[in-house]
Amino acid sequence: MSQKTDLAGLSARAIREGIAGKRFSAGDVVEATYAHIDVHEPGIHAFNELTPDLARAAAAHIDAKVAAGEELPPLAGVPAALKDNMNLVGTHTTCSSRILSDFKSPYDCTAVRRLLDAGALPIGKCNMDEFAFGSSTENSAFGVTHNPWDLSRVPGGSSGGSAAAVAARMVTVSLGSDTGGSIRQPGALTGTVAMKPTYGRVSRYGIVAFASSLDQIGPFSRSVEDAALVLNAISGHDDTDATSVREPVPDFTATLGDGVKGLRVGLVRDMLDLEGCAAEVREATEMSVRTLESLGAQVGEIDLPMSQHGLAAYYIIGPAEASSNLARFDGIRYGHRVSDPSDVVDLYMRSRAEGFGPETIRRIMLGTYALSAGYYDAYYGTAQKTRTLITREFDAAFEQFDVLVTPTSPTVAFKIGEKAEDPLSMYLSDVFTIPLNLAGLPGVSIPCAKSESTGLPIGVQIIGKHFDEATMLRVAAALEGALDLDMRPPAA
Ligand code: GLN
Repeated sequence: MSQKTDLAGLSARAIREGIAGKRFSAGDVVEATYAHIDVHEPGIHAFNELTPDLARAAAAHIDAKVAAGEELPPLAGVPAALKDNMNLVGTHTTCSSRILSDFKSPYDCTAVRRLLDAGALPIGKCNMDEFAFGSSTENSAFGVTHNPWDLSRVPGGSSGGSAAAVAARMVTVSLGSDTGGSIRQPGALTGTVAMKPTYGRVSRYGIVAFASSLDQIGPFSRSVEDAALVLNAISGHDDTDATSVREPVPDFTATLGDGVKGLRVGLVRDMLDLEGCAAEVREATEMSVRTLESLGAQVGEIDLPMSQHGLAAYYIIGPAEASSNLARFDGIRYGHRVSDPSDVVDLYMRSRAEGFGPETIRRIMLGTYALSAGYYDAYYGTAQKTRTLITREFDAAFEQFDVLVTPTSPTVAFKIGEKAEDPLSMYLSDVFTIPLNLAGLPGVSIPCAKSESTGLPIGVQIIGKHFDEATMLRVAAALEGALDLDMRPPAA
């Protein structure tokens, strides 16, 4: 029994080494994982679907390699969970929406396939805000996910299930998707390491699209090294996604230990002063930057005033692209269909009205309005110009700095229900993360402190240059090492 508990807390590297050294088998890891899930999942609800048959088959494959004396792949035997908007044959892909509740994955998402080819074990599909619209996982059609740090609070969103599963040690790593912050913000709220790679670094093939010019898949983990290992596995060009780039993929673990001496770190000052950013979050961010300075980084400050308009631009561009991407869920091509339509228009209208939840309907209406004749230039055109200005502002900032630092989320995890009736205050959750999606930049959130009043985790966001995740992760690893926090929540 104690061995099972231990397995749940191991790093990816320790799992692979333990299996290779025959101290335990991949089969043992699977059984320990589901035993741990049996204990914690009822209170947390991180999963929409568990996939023990797939996990056991993958584990048997690893154990056969051990028996044959073969070299093990880098993530051999590592329990992994997937956000429920990623296709994997043998699973449903519901996007936590009624409209797709019966949808079976017809093929594999490239990032998922690459993760599994690297030896990871598919443990299950994780709960999310419907179609990834949200910051709390309360917009799921299948019930809310609870934060393992305090079950009365949200885990963030939209990848809340993926974040909670890792925080509660139900899996070692998971994949989420980030269109405006949906990996990094739940990472901050659950005390996990959560990374959005550069746009184009990871193929989007096989993920249900929200906003195709912003979406990117990335990992949750409990250490920067595990995040780097997952990034190694999922990165790289893919012929089936025209926006995936042919940039070389370095070994992201190779430079993690290089330290920050001489690196130029920019604290984004005006973001800290933003109304709505909690004092404890601001202090934790400043403390993180001072820690990097004590490790030898050259620290400076910068303002990014254009980024303050990111939220407004995002809530035009995101819904505009979403309204177009979601047109395919019409009851004919995909999704729930009413049984008694009077004609085809009635079929479309009622299938969609029954299938979509309120936030999804709000996004479709916002996007359709922003793209409608007469408003297109005023809304969509202006938002695109703002996006360009934000990108240029970052380009200029990166002439002075190697990485930039901001808070990840303006507050710690909030109570379930607290913001559910107030979409605008919910949208503010992503004010620090959205500018990166607009500019296509990579960002990682790592836990940097615990709130003195609540004990809840606080995250700090480290932003890298395009395709320079290696430097960003190097800074994250240095900070993680110096802070040396115990980030095991009560429900784990
Ligand atoms: N919370 C933001 C939204 O609701 C971001 C979502 C995301 O990144 N998928 O749109």
